[in-house]
Amino acid sequence: MHDFLLAKEIVDEVLAVAKEKRLSKVEKVSVEIGLVAMAHDGHGEHVEDISVENLRFGISAVAKNTILDGAVFDIVKVAGEHWRLTAIDGE
Ligand SMILES: [Zn+2]
Repeated sequence: MHDFLLAKEIVDEVLAVAKEKRLSKVEKVSVEIGLVAMAHDGHGEHVEDISVENLRFGISAVAKNTILDGAVFDIVKVAGEHWRLTAIDGE
């Protein structure tokens, strides 16, 4: 579940950064993913393992028809309880 929630969060964040950088097309995004605590569906904050495969699937679904459509996502799992963008390339 967190994979799909996180996919939306990541795409929103990348779009915000791309707008700041005035990019019209994003080609590559590098992201680090730790264990992210989230609250959803009536449950309080908890941690779930993130499936990179589900995350990729979720990102490509959310990114459809945006300037992120077709961008390559380099996803690296890291220790810790956060996720962060490490790089965004585009033009
Ligand atoms: Zn959950």
